[in-house]
Amino acid sequence: MGEKEISKKDYLRRLSSVNDLIQAFYRSRMAGNRSIPRELITEASRAVLEGVREAILAARDEMSLKSINTDTEELVSLVEKEVQERIRPSFRRVVNATGVVVHTNMGRSLLPAPAIEALRNAAAHYSNLELDLETGERGSRQMHLRRILCELTGAESALVVNNNAAAVLLALTAHARDREVIVSRGQLIEIGGSFRLPEVMAQSGARLVEVGTTNKTYLEDYRRAITSETAAIMRAHPSNYRILGFTAEVELKELAGLAHEYGLILLDDLGSGVYPDLSRFGVSREPTIRDSLRDGADLVCFSGDKLLGGPQAGIVLGREELVEAMAGHPLARALRPDKLTVAALEATLRLYLDPERALSEIPTLAMLTADPETLRGRAQRLAERLSSACPDLEIEVTEDVSRAGGGSLPMEDLPTWVVAVNSPRLKVNRLEENLRRCDPPVMGRIKEDRLLLDVRTLRDEELPLVVEAFRSATGAAGNGKGAGGTSKGNPP
Ligand SMILES: *Cc1c(COP(=O)(O)O)cnc(C)c1O
Repeated sequence: MGEKEISKKDYLRRLSSVNDLIQAFYRSRMAGNRSIPRELITEASRAVLEGVREAILAARDEMSLKSINTDTEELVSLVEKEVQERIRPSFRRVVNATGVVVHTNMGRSLLPAPAIEALRNAAAHYSNLELDLETGERGSRQMHLRRILCELTGAESALVVNNNAAAVLLALTAHARDREVIVSRGQLIEIGGSFRLPEVMAQSGARLVEVGTTNKTYLEDYRRAITSETAAIMRAHPSNYRILGFTAEVELKELAGLAHEYGLILLDDLGSGVYPDLSRFGVSREPTIRDSLRDGADLVCFSGDKLLGGPQAGIVLGREELVEAMAGHPLARALRPDKLTVAALEATLRLYLDPERALSEIPTLAMLTADPETLRGRAQRLAERLSSACPDLEIEVTEDVSRAGGGSLPMEDLPTWVVAVNSPRLKVNRLEENLRRCDPPVMGRIKEDRLLLDVRTLRDEELPLVVEAFRSATGAAGNGKGAGGTSKGNPP
């Protein structure tokens, strides 16, 4: 016991001081990087020394003590790693090889090129965000979006807020506060990221009146629930699930007839808000935004960054006096979109004026409707590059299915091509983890002990990034040591 304490003391004594370590760091490779603040280096050095000190104190025997490297050179490389970690932005690019197009955890929709250009402009320059250039007077940021939204959809009026959750909250607050809203039990949804319809409803001050059962709701159920307190009937798109089997749902048209018979508002929360009919691409027929308006919804709301393929936003369309009441509500000010959203959304919407252009230029739509032969070609190119970069990988190009994601089209199996990878030396979970720690991280999906790279969500320019990540994740780069955590997989 006593001996061990003595040798621990020796180890501790051998550690460099914070100052010596900082000096050593400045003599190291990273020292050329002048942009690293000195304080950060000091903090990193302290953290490293603290970590080593703790490891020494926690060592249970001579063996584990001996395994702790206290050489200054080793400590400097730990400081370098620590500094790397600390200067690396938290929000980073990721390569999405999951095939999930509207991946909520990876930022949902990628913006089309004109929207990216519009974002740049809005960010770099002053703009007429709230300036009427005809009169020189104050205008509304909504004016940039209202006309084109009405033109595209035939709606009387339109309002854009921060996201669809905000749109639902505002609609219910402005039109049903302290009154009743009837919803089918089959539509009391929870969407990922804690959007729960009953809770949003409670927050708005509207009282939820549930009708029907989980699998079946009839028009009569709605009719019986109407009282003098009823403000609205709401339909919510079940987004991320479907009720199958013995089911009954009331058509929107019939709901509209009932609502209008009693002077009630029919609110349709479409969720994804698909604009073009995608059924000719083998995607099942979803009610489009126009269908909903045509079938008589008084207010329709949906997300900007799901199947519409634009920036995060909540779009409300509908009858003018209803939309105006929402726009004038004090809550609208708290939920308004910022100028970057306005710019990117307008640019995205303009693409819809030419439906073919929308399908080819809006990444979300292009990925969803990608031709299987194109996908197959891309998968083959990726497989070839991977096998020449990492010859020990077992690689197969095979068919699989992708998902739309974002709570959109949950039952849809989109036929796709994937590169299925198996490493004889790494367990699949380890491979997945190593790829996740690369820079940029590469995210695939695991299926039956293989890592699948679904090329639906990859662009050709990204293939070299995937290859580089695999080289580093499997140790094919350099001397054959596994090096997941230290990759700089960022080829020219
Ligand atoms: C996604 C979704 C929402 C929430 O939309 P956000 O834009 O993510 O706020 C609300 N309702 C439905 C039906 C949805 O699918």
